[in-house]
Amino acid sequence: MESRNETEAIELSLIAPMYNEEEVVDHFFSAIEQCLGPAGIKYEIVCINDGSSDNTLKIITDYAHQYKHIKVLDLSRNFGKELALTAGIDYATGQAAIPIDCDLQDPPEVILEMYGKWREGYDVVLARRSNRDSDTFVKRNTSMLFYKLIDSMSEIHIPANVGDFRLLDRKALDALRMYPERSRFMKGLFASLGFKTAIVEYVRPARAAGETKWNYVKLYSLALEGILSFTSFPLKIWSYLGAAIAFSGFVYGIFTIVKTLYFGIDVPGYASLMVVLLFMSGLILISLGIIGEYLARIFIEVKGRPIYIVRSSVGFEGDVECVHGRNG
Ligand code: UDP
Ligand code: MG
Repeated sequence: MESRNETEAIELSLIAPMYNEEEVVDHFFSAIEQCLGPAGIKYEIVCINDGSSDNTLKIITDYAHQYKHIKVLDLSRNFGKELALTAGIDYATGQAAIPIDCDLQDPPEVILEMYGKWREGYDVVLARRSNRDSDTFVKRNTSMLFYKLIDSMSEIHIPANVGDFRLLDRKALDALRMYPERSRFMKGLFASLGFKTAIVEYVRPARAAGETKWNYVKLYSLALEGILSFTSFPLKIWSYLGAAIAFSGFVYGIFTIVKTLYFGIDVPGYASLMVVLLFMSGLILISLGIIGEYLARIFIEVKGRPIYIVRSSVGFEGDVECVHGRNG
């Protein structure tokens, strides 16, 4: 790997969040260089250490000291992939940037294709998975369900089978930096940007080494985050549902009164009472819970805490060893 000359303007920033990835980083750096080096693309790799507890930070810091095009942001703790990406996007200096997983599931060859489309004049180039064979059956289907659900509720269309792996021109990056929110569902934010968009297809390979950092609990909260930050529809259904139930209650009330007037009082009714009571309390609790989810998010936004905190950085202009972050 040769060191790049810093005075050259950087065309492409690769933004690589890393969480306990010591097994794959060497692999990752060499695969990228093998692909982009011969093409003569002037690139940098912004590595974001997302609070790894293994040797990742040491490995990437050594690389950064040796090669100018490798840069390191060390976050103060594990902030999660979405916020790590946000930090990387804030620090990237290229004329375009590509968020990329460092486990080689985002194949470096696709970068060349996206780069080509960008040079043709597109501002955003999406990499769409032509199949999801490398995913488990459950993950494939829950993911499909999620996209259907969010598509039916939100005005913003989030393309299915497109991850964070995509090229964004400087214009789109600057637009993205205007989003102040702390709840950052990146796929949704990317989709809401707009811009002139092209798509390239690719086959997603299995992880090169190491293990996935996502479990179903984390995926569920990511999906919930996506829905709650991109649509207020779940808040609104309750008034319609309430109106429908109140109307049927009214009709049933009239029916009961008429029935009592003509046929007298009919005491048994325990079963129907219980059914209505349980059903209604369930509905009320669900609606309260949903209001609570939104309220919790408002609470987080209102506190205005930093989105991420950088502990130290290597390879950026005016590197500082002190804490810095972004507040809105
Ligand atoms: N990642 C991260 N912080 C986290 C979880 C994951 O920065 O809290 C990074 C991880 O190092 C990897 C990328 O996000 O580069 C994608 O994670 P992973 O490959 O585990 O997800 P999958 O491909 O299984 O969806
Ligand atoms: Mg992966």
